[in-house]
Amino acid sequence: MSDQNKYYLFSKETETMLQLSEPLKERLNEHGFIPTSTPFEANFILSVGGDNTFLQAVRKTGFRNDCIYIGVNTDDLGFYTDFTLDQLEPLMMAMKEEQLKVRRYPVLKVKIDQKDPFYCLNECTIRSSVIKTFVMDVIIDDQYFETFRGDGMIVSTPTGSTAYNKSVGGAVIDPKLPSMQISEISSLNNSEYRTLGTSFILGSDRSLTLKIVQTGNEHPVIGIDNEALAFPQVKQVHLQLANRYIKVLKLDNNSFWDRVQRKFL
Ligand code: NAD
Repeated sequence: MSDQNKYYLFSKETETMLQLSEPLKERLNEHGFIPTSTPFEANFILSVGGDNTFLQAVRKTGFRNDCIYIGVNTDDLGFYTDFTLDQLEPLMMAMKEEQLKVRRYPVLKVKIDQKDPFYCLNECTIRSSVIKTFVMDVIIDDQYFETFRGDGMIVSTPTGSTAYNKSVGGAVIDPKLPSMQISEISSLNNSEYRTLGTSFILGSDRSLTLKIVQTGNEHPVIGIDNEALAFPQVKQVHLQLANRYIKVLKLDNNSFWDRVQRKFL
């Protein structure tokens, strides 16, 4: 495994996290894994912390599709974290397998006006930054669908469907279905304004454009996973599934539906 044993460890840079990560580094060392100073040379990128840290680890390392991400939680298992710091043996065994067992997670590509694209693992949220309602024309592929007026919209990946999307009544989607789900945040529905009023799911080859109607409220907060983007003025946001996946090392007997059951039922 000589070329395949380089790892990069990502965690919050606090004294506690550095201390908590020490036993993991020792075990990796004992098993012949070599640390790298940048994530770009690593075959394994280990995130130590919760889902929040995992989302940051993937973002800060550029949504690489040529390495394997590993979520190691400090306590309980999370949605993106299959391993925990108090049980390192299953992690070492999984990293040393001849045929690594991985999940492939779809990623969302977001283009805001003419800027370079951003990527999301959970979702992209477009919402009003002021109390006034926010108006957007919703276009599927190149065809006008509806005009939304309300607080905003969430466009989530399948793995993000259990996060913010679920809190607004969206469906939980199996990550084996590459798709994006569009969910409304408090739409206004009356005799003047009408939207579908339910979440809808688009297949992998569709695109969605949200054209912000210029009503004097063109300054949305755009959230990409757990980061907020602020632009002086936005005309449109184009979203589609990226033609890339991230690969995440998995623990046996911990399927997506095991995690949904453990967390919500
Ligand atoms: P945070 O600290 O506010 O935690 C949000 C919670 O969501 C945490 O318990 C986290 O473990 C969990 N979570 C994150 N991704 C998940 C997923 N894919 N499935 C199920 N649970 C998940 O924020 P954070 O930890 O930085 O996470 C950012 C995420 O929080 C955003 O991507 C968004 O999905 C979510 N969020 C939810 C709401 C809401 O439910 N009303 C509002 C804002 C953001």
